[in-house]
Parts: sequence; structure tokens; C-alpha cells
Amino acid sequence: MARTPEEIVRLLPADRGLLLFLDYDGTLVPFHDDPSRAVPGPELLALLNRLTTHPRRRVVIVSGRSADDLRRLLPGSACHLLALHGAQYVDPEGRCLDRVDLAPCRARLKTVAEGCRALLASVPCVRIEDKGAAIAIHMRSCDHESEERATRIFEGFSREVTDDGNLMILRGSRVVELKPAAADKGSGALWLLERFGPAWYPVYVGDDTTDEDGFRVLRDRGATIRVGPTDRRTLARWRLADPAAVLELLARIVSGS
Ligand SMILES: [Mg+2]
Repeated sequence: MARTPEEIVRLLPADRGLLLFLDYDGTLVPFHDDPSRAVPGPELLALLNRLTTHPRRRVVIVSGRSADDLRRLLPGSACHLLALHGAQYVDPEGRCLDRVDLAPCRARLKTVAEGCRALLASVPCVRIEDKGAAIAIHMRSCDHESEERATRIFEGFSREVTDDGNLMILRGSRVVELKPAAADKGSGALWLLERFGPAWYPVYVGDDTTDEDGFRVLRDRGATIRVGPTDRRTLARWRLADPAAVLELLARIVSGS
């Protein structure tokens, strides 16, 4: 159901701390053809700072990006990070924990990264993002034909390394990824919520198909909000239109109105 940020804030419980699970791309920051340039604006950084210094607010960034990438985008931030789709957790002090064994993923992806780079060099619009324990090819600047070709090449490689069950192929909006199979955003969010305990009320905000795992596990425990067009099916209880509406929601949570 579409709600305004003002309505959502009124529906959040006043007697519990808020544990905000926030996706990054398409939720906090609009998409950019070059993902490395999807940087946060000063307003978002100021809001995250005010939220993370509030005693009864905590922020968790839940993203397919690597932890290093998220730290580069949010320098000095006191956010918790669930990186690589929840496979890796980093606390606000920078302590990193692999929630699943990432060593087999890293080992198998080395050959994929080398092979893909050589073959995809002939498709110039493709951006390869090597995240160590995952690899993504971004095709936001490709025409349809190049996107199909790049996807075919990547999936050909991927089939060779998914046979032992450590890695899985994930298709997103103009991106294909090989990621650790043993974790998703929902299992990551639930794991962290359990560490925080019942005094914390989860609010999960995301725009991706992968965020549906978060909506599924938190639907009966907290607030779930899908960002983006209303024609996409979702398990989330509420909807917001775009990152601007998410920023307004965060501003209202900060001000308590
Ligand atoms: Mg997203």
C-alpha cells in the first residue's frame, strides 16, 4: 500500500528503538550508469549521522556491494553493514565477520574474473565489478544486443563454477552477478535483528528483488517498505516512490514527526 513518509512515521512504535535496514542503490541513492559514482549527497550523510548518534536509532546498510565499497561511499559512518547480500557483516567499529565461509567462493571466482575480463573486453559498455567473494557485470550503459551478449558470456562462465553449490547466479535490473549461495539479505537482517534483541523494532526499506527476502522474514515483525514503481509485486506492507521519499522518511524519523 502506498503511504506517505508522514503516515509511515506515525505508524512506527514509539516505545522501541528503531533498527533501520536500508538498501543503498535505488533506495538511498539513485542509480548511476557507473555504480562507483552513485555517491551519497550531503543531506543523506547528515541524516545518517544524526540517526547513528541517536541512542534509540541504529542504521544497517544492506547491499550487494562489498564492505570496502560501502565504507568508501560512507566514510566515517557509524552504520552497521551487511555487505555482499548479507554474507558479510561489519560493525560500526570496522570489525568484519564473514557470516558464511567465503573462501571457496573467492577461490572459484578468481578464474571467472580473469576469463570474463578477457572475453567481455569486446563488449565495451560492460562494467565488471570484482568483489572478491562475488562478481557482478553491470550493463546499464549497454544497448539490448550488447546486454544479451554479455549476459550469455557471463552465464556460460558461471555455469562452470556453480556446480558445487557455493555460488549462485543472481539476475537483477541490468546486472548479473555470481554471489555466495549461502546468504541473502533476509537471512542477514534476521541474524542481526536477533543479535539486537526484542527491544528493537526493524524497519526494512529496499527497491530490489533481493530485498524481498528481507520483506519476507520481517513482514510479521516490523515495517517493510518497497521503493519504486507500484507495478512490481512485493511482500512489503508499504511502498514509497523513490529515494527522495526515503530521505523524507529518514528526516521525519530524525525529527520525530
Ligand atoms: Mg537497491
